[in-house]
Amino acid sequence: MKQGKYALIIHGGAGNITGLSQERHDAYVNGIRECLEAGEKLLKAGASSIDVVEACVNILENNEVFNAGKGSVINTEGEVEMDSAIMNGSDLKAGSVIGLKHYKNPISVARQVMDKTEHVMLACDGAEEFAKSAGFKYYENDYFKTEFRIKQAEEAKKAGKTVLDVSDVKKNKKMGTVGAVAFDMNGNIAAATSTGGIANKLKGRVGDSPIIGAGIYANNQYAGVSATGYGEQFLRTVVSFYAAIGVNSTTKAPAAAKKAMTYLKKVVNGLGGIIMIDKYGNIGKAATSENLIHGLVGSDYELYVSLAPNGKNELNEL
Ligand code: ASP
Repeated sequence: MKQGKYALIIHGGAGNITGLSQERHDAYVNGIRECLEAGEKLLKAGASSIDVVEACVNILENNEVFNAGKGSVINTEGEVEMDSAIMNGSDLKAGSVIGLKHYKNPISVARQVMDKTEHVMLACDGAEEFAKSAGFKYYENDYFKTEFRIKQAEEAKKAGKTVLDVSDVKKNKKMGTVGAVAFDMNGNIAAATSTGGIANKLKGRVGDSPIIGAGIYANNQYAGVSATGYGEQFLRTVVSFYAAIGVNSTTKAPAAAKKAMTYLKKVVNGLGGIIMIDKYGNIGKAATSENLIHGLVGSDYELYVSLAPNGKNELNEL
């Protein structure tokens, strides 16, 4: 085991959750914990932050309770379309895919776009063809649809609304998406965000998650950020970039995250949250919603999981 400073924060969506069953509550908590434990093991062994955020998001994508990979929300055409992006803070390299319908781990396809092409973003058919040529296994779109999501899409359709995954259709206040930000032993920061988007979205709709600066950002000079919430609001405010460049010697990640969420609320009455780690290795998180499913761990942080933005004390209050 290497010695040194490291930090990891992950999220599984934001929103205002009501009537959460114990079973689903436990599934969120266990999913986040399992992911944190795996990520911390990698960081302790000296893995790079970019490898760690990809590995963590893979775990969350493969867990169908979260709105990414299998278990993604369903659009108005009854299909799953997934968006994902990854960014490396040391060289500002980034990879992003939009509208993937047949590949299990969109974040790994985005990583390949970053590593193997000259581009940052690939969309729809082009992204699918790239995934195929990169050797990713093809899955039928039905593979991604869970019973929970089919029911959610029906309810959203009936109500004529788009819905954030983590919210209750009636209240229209739940979101999903997964994300990870890591600070490795070499002080490098990376971020990753992956999503099915919002339930009952129009075909072809793209949210903030795959857009550099909106749903994700990483720059070793400032911070790494991953966002979750109503993508349209995060797009219009470029919130991940805003949060990152808010970091300086007097404003660390906790304050920068709060400032960004205050801005989001003020200018577009935005709903959602962000997680971040600054260049000093400090972890920050904030949300304008009641819930932010997240967990964190680090050399200076005891592992905890919470469904609320302010931390572990709220866990039992749900
Ligand atoms: N931000 C995502 C989107 O708008 C959804 C979410 O975070 O729940 O696509």
